[in-house]
Amino acid sequence: MTVIQFKKVNKYFGPFHVLKNIDLQIQEGEVVVIIGPSGSGKSTLLRCINRLETISDGELTVNETPLHDKKVNINQFRRDIGIVFQHFNLYPHKKVIDNIILAPMKVQRLKKEDAKKTAMYYLKRVGIEEKADNFPSQLSGGQQQRVAIARGLVMNPKIMLFDEPTSALDPEMIGEVLDVIRSLAHNGMTMVIVTHEMGFAREVADRVVFMDEGQILEVATSSDFFESPREDRARLFLSRLI
Ligand code: ADP
Ligand code: MG
Repeated sequence: MTVIQFKKVNKYFGPFHVLKNIDLQIQEGEVVVIIGPSGSGKSTLLRCINRLETISDGELTVNETPLHDKKVNINQFRRDIGIVFQHFNLYPHKKVIDNIILAPMKVQRLKKEDAKKTAMYYLKRVGIEEKADNFPSQLSGGQQQRVAIARGLVMNPKIMLFDEPTSALDPEMIGEVLDVIRSLAHNGMTMVIVTHEMGFAREVADRVVFMDEGQILEVATSSDFFESPREDRARLFLSRLI
């Protein structure tokens, strides 16, 4: 089943044409990695998927919700989508556990005790249950990002979006966050991941989307893309990373 469908999507920031004629279909359970140079529109494309950005024209349907229709109930829609940003965006004055129970209490109206049980399950899943009562500032960057992932998972979303989840981390912490994301992949949840970690992308992606200057230039299986990219600009991009 198609869960994310872009049809001839364009987006402008004022006069600036940031997404150009985007056509892309993502199937349920698929892991899609988006790569491309800085400024090519990767974050904007990702943010359109949960309507953090609106599209200018074309059609974008996510979980059967037509996002080009201005009347859709966005709060309802967003329950099924988790997002993890480069900067973890945790509430600094709230304990780890309280960061995670916010949405279940507010949106699902769970009782605090029930929300905490669910939150602990996901903290365990990302390997930091012992940090539940700490504040974010008492955690390493890698641990904070794992909290952000647990927060994204706690609503049991159908789709998880990751926007450069390891780019703000010290090198020694990148592996632990990638391990967590890897453990989530191919378990039925649809995942769209923007990353510069090419080894990880190659290993985890079902398909790779290569973007440049607001366009999708290539969509291919991971092995096809990394072994023999068709586009010159994709080849150039990969050669510069080595
Ligand atoms: P990427 O994630 O690939 O680095 P982005 O999607 O963040 O690219 O940005 C694509 C282009 O759109 C960049 O040139 C960026 O400066 C521009 N841009 C991003 N967000 C905005 C905004 N809110 N207003 C104006 N321009 C923006
Ligand atoms: Mg970006």
